[in-house]
Formats: sequence, C-alpha cells, structure tokens
Amino acid sequence: MLNIVLFGPPGAGKGTQAKKLVDEFGLIHLSTGDLLRSEIENNTELGNKAKSIMDEGKLVPDEVVVGMICNRLDQNKEAKGFIFDGFPRTREQAASLDELLKEKNTSINTLISLEVERKELVDRIMKRGEELGRHDDQDPSVVTNRINEYLEKTEPVKDYYKEQGKCTEVDGVGSIEEIFEKISNEIRGLEYT
Ligand code: AMP
Repeated sequence: MLNIVLFGPPGAGKGTQAKKLVDEFGLIHLSTGDLLRSEIENNTELGNKAKSIMDEGKLVPDEVVVGMICNRLDQNKEAKGFIFDGFPRTREQAASLDELLKEKNTSINTLISLEVERKELVDRIMKRGEELGRHDDQDPSVVTNRINEYLEKTEPVKDYYKEQGKCTEVDGVGSIEEIFEKISNEIRGLEYT
C-alpha cells in the first residue's frame, strides 16, 4: 500500500495537490476538513457540534476525527492506499493513525510537508475565502486562530514523523504543476508494494 500524509499549514495547497495525487497514484483522498464540512451540510449531530469549533478556527477533538478516519479506512478495505489531508493535526492523532494502520498490517510511507511562508498563507486563505465562500477563510481573526493552532499543535506532528525517518519537505511556492511534479517525484522515489 501507499499511504501518504500531506502536511502543511492552512492555505499551503494540500487540498489542491491531494486531488491531483489521487488521480496520478490511484489513492483514496481522506480530508477530515471535507468530512466535517459534509457532516455540517447534512445537519448531523457530529456536524452541529463541530461547526462552532470550526467557526472559531479551533481544532475539533481528536476522538471525533480519529473516529471518522477509522470508519473511512474500514469502508475502503480494497484501497491501493490513502492520502491523508489535514489529518493528523496533533501528535495524539498521529499515534492513533499508526495504531489504526498497524491493525491493517500497513503504515505511513512518508509525510510530505508543503513549506510556505506565513505572509503568503494569509493572502492565499483570504483569496480562497472569496472564491469558495468558506466562512473560516474570510474572517481575519479566525484565520489567525487557525494558524496559531497549527503552530502550537500541528507543527509538532512533523517531528513525530521525522523521529521515524518519514518526513519529506517540498517547497510549496510555485505553480500548482511545479509543486505537483516535485511531490510526485518524491512519491515515485519511495519503495512500496
Ligand atoms: P481544513 O479544511 O483541513 O482546513 O479544516 C477546517 C477545520 O476543520 C479546521 O480549522 C478544524 O476546525 C477542523 N479540522 C479539520 N481536520 C481536523 C483534524 N484533523 N483535527 C482537528 N480539527 C480538524
């Protein structure tokens, strides 16, 4: 299997690249942000609880997102592999993911970290907010909260994978195609069956 964590701050381009990588490598895209937004659209109990947290730019509890990922892994038993986008966002989530994958006799091949400067991120997020109408992308104080949550809780996830020798840094500034080529080359260089 090929299991990739696509990592980076909000606005780094994870979603855009994940969609292209899915086509190129035949993987299943698992975005906890997309899954949560779909829960909200469907007015589920989980969605209603998550909405107020997301609207503040805070992280929803680990057990909620881990539960959603666990379900999706079970629903896709024949998958060639997965691309995790926006997950794991805490070291606890990363440890839970390792456990879930171990139960399925597989593991993460690498984390690919998209490196983008903070100034560039804010510009990109506000632009995305205008284009897609995402509430949490339009309010500067929510955007700041999300970046702070990233720095405090999510950035340590990179060290978690570094400690396992599974971290690949890719420059996230450039055209979508250029960045896609760089990521694809890194993935092609991995040994997986
Ligand atoms: P995203 O679309 O990945 O930017 O996620 C949007 C929002 O969903 C985040 O700001 C969080 O409130 C929530 N969220 C998404 N993924 C996670 C996660 N793995 N852990 C906690 N909260 C998450």
